[in-house]
Amino acid sequence: MSEKIEILVLPGDGIGAEIVAVAEQVMIQVADREGLSLAVDHAMVGGGAIDAHGTPLPEETLEKARNARALLLGAVGGPKWDDLATLERPERGLLGLRSELELFANLRPALLFAPLATASSLKEELVTGLDILIVRELTGGIYFGEPRGVRIVDNERVGINSYVYKEHEIDRIARVAFELAQKRGGRLCSVDKANVLEVTQLWREVVTEVGRDYPDVELSHMYVDNAGMQLVRAPKQFDVLVTGNLFGDILSDVAAMLTGSLGMLPSASLAGDGRGLFEPVHGSAPDLAGRDLANPLATILSVAMMFRYSLDAPKGADAIETAVDRVLDAGYRTADIIVATEPELRLVGTREMGDLIAAELEAKP
Ligand code: NAD
Repeated sequence: MSEKIEILVLPGDGIGAEIVAVAEQVMIQVADREGLSLAVDHAMVGGGAIDAHGTPLPEETLEKARNARALLLGAVGGPKWDDLATLERPERGLLGLRSELELFANLRPALLFAPLATASSLKEELVTGLDILIVRELTGGIYFGEPRGVRIVDNERVGINSYVYKEHEIDRIARVAFELAQKRGGRLCSVDKANVLEVTQLWREVVTEVGRDYPDVELSHMYVDNAGMQLVRAPKQFDVLVTGNLFGDILSDVAAMLTGSLGMLPSASLAGDGRGLFEPVHGSAPDLAGRDLANPLATILSVAMMFRYSLDAPKGADAIETAVDRVLDAGYRTADIIVATEPELRLVGTREMGDLIAAELEAKP
């Protein structure tokens, strides 16, 4: 066995503990298969950390996170913490991890598993074979820009956020996107609002300049409003999309619905050195928490991304994705992806779905 790889597991709130428990099992199983030796530790983040430590991102968690090669996270937040001020909320734990670890590249694949084509909100022919990757800048833009806040100006409240990108922030995310496009279909679409926002005029300029280093990638530009339309009109026209924090947040949720359910969507957030945080796109689904109803596949597929992007074990990633495809093909569905008009499908809970994936991985030579 090789040197131990530090992994930090952060279940978080709501359904986090249930989906992460299942995904962690898969992670350990696949690491064994691939001959990787993992040192797995656990820590708190989000609402639970606020209750226990008074902060959504305790120093101990941050310290462990800094030492880890990869982090597996469930989700944070819930109604219990909804009334807290913005800067004290569970989500700050997540934003803090992303910025402290410089996880600037968020990868969100929208990949349609063939057996789920009928669960998409679009017509089957529009989504069959869909495989797009949204690369979202994650540590800059309007979510972090200063000044920000709500203040009194001329006797009325004024809300302010600042949309700021520095050249080097655009340059590094563009390079990640070009390199991913090189390994996929060789096409990159950069999304901006350069007709209105100066910051995205700079975005377009820098992406174009970086593109000169990647002559084998076909670069195009699209305004965000058009990109939103095109994603629901003809999503298969895209290969890789790259965009800023705010637009990426919205477009990746639009892309989510193309594949059937939030419960199917994994994500990776990477630093420049390949360290990463892997988590489902969905939130903590308080309505499902503790009921064995949540779909664990987004988290399991996030583990696949961990093997591909942080652990340099693409075969492990392929094995997980194949197992998911086979289990779906055999007709097993959690409640969020079941289709009432297809009586041959079999409804399963969170744990059983995890067991089925584990059994499929075990069975595959
Ligand atoms: P959500 O993603 O938690 O839920 C939206 C809908 O999708 C709900 O109907 C939920 O039941 C369903 N859903 C989500 N995950 C599912 C799964 N794995 N299987 C089956 N169904 C699933 O979003 P929300 O309701 O807007 O937010 C709930 C809480 O989660 C809030 O506190 C919010 O702040 C937080 N949140 C956290 C993250 C994160 O941790 N990355 C992201 C989004 C929202």
